[in-house]
Amino acid sequence: MGEKVNHTFFNLELPEEHGPFHVIGDVHGCFNELLELLECLGYDVRFDKESSKYDVVPPDGAKVIFVGDLVDRGPNSPEVLRLVMDMAEAGLAYCVSGNHDDKLLRMLLGRNVQVRHGLELTKAQLEPYDAVFRERVKHFLSNLPHHIILDEGRLVVAHAGLEERLHGHNTKGVRELCLYGPTSGETDNKGLPIRLDWAAEYCGKAVVIYGHTPVHEPSWRNNTINIDTGCVFGGTLTALTYPEHKLTSVESYQTYAESVRPFIRYQHHHHHPSPS
Ligand code: MN
Repeated sequence: MGEKVNHTFFNLELPEEHGPFHVIGDVHGCFNELLELLECLGYDVRFDKESSKYDVVPPDGAKVIFVGDLVDRGPNSPEVLRLVMDMAEAGLAYCVSGNHDDKLLRMLLGRNVQVRHGLELTKAQLEPYDAVFRERVKHFLSNLPHHIILDEGRLVVAHAGLEERLHGHNTKGVRELCLYGPTSGETDNKGLPIRLDWAAEYCGKAVVIYGHTPVHEPSWRNNTINIDTGCVFGGTLTALTYPEHKLTSVESYQTYAESVRPFIRYQHHHHHPSPS
């Protein structure tokens, strides 16, 4: 049944990291849009052919935090992985695991996963890459935390968000919630699990930034914000600057996949809280 690995999972606590951060939503292999967004944010990104690495110079002391779902459905998941891995190695980026990243890892470990929902594209895109690169991806993905707490606990990043009472907790159940979000246990008429709106009841002090479910427009709700603006589905790729709470988006170059779920449009738009 494939390779044996440690089933360790963890959250990451970085209280001393105060930012500035650029928190970036679900990339899903949209490499060119990611490059454009980073350029918009003031990052200088160059590919060094000799070392096959990306050299990145950030704008004054800034770091990127990815909300996960780096891969699947889009045109160039391997280069997204390479760029994020190079940035993480250089101490310029953090990333939490998304459900798609986790599924790719399980595939690379030889587990029995269903190769669909865009994973078939990532699998094909990885074919020309050598074993060293694939090993690096495996190592990187198996070391992604399920959530990160920064800035003395004032900022929490998790792929599908996380309710306050679970911040800083590390159990299998918490990990599942971070990657998939709470569901009702029922499925909709398309056979998809019905996702529950945990943020509607959130009343925590920490700002929670997340992705996972594409929204038409990011909007603040109870100190939380979903910044997955569905780039791979023809939407935009969005970054939230912390602590300024400034949104920056680039348009997707193409609709790479059709969204089964319509993008969420929140009925009431709340004004964003003043930065702490
Ligand atoms: Mn996603």
